[in-house]
Amino acid sequence: MPIYCVNKHAQSNGDHEVHDVTSAHGCLPVPWNRVDLGYHPSCTGAVAKAQRYYANVDGCRWCATLCHTS
Ligand SMILES: [Zn+2]
Repeated sequence: MPIYCVNKHAQSNGDHEVHDVTSAHGCLPVPWNRVDLGYHPSCTGAVAKAQRYYANVDGCRWCATLCHTS
């Protein structure tokens, strides 16, 4: 089960991106810009948890594709 994190810094559109920390796509935020979300069976649970921290959350287009909306 992958471990997910969310970027502390919003993108230009205001979304905080959720990433799989094992991603090899080069899309991960630097460690000090990550909030650890723990283990989740899919990005859906990770996004739900990230929404406790940030109102606007989106899955990374590279490593959380199923949760990527914008
Ligand atoms: Zn990513």
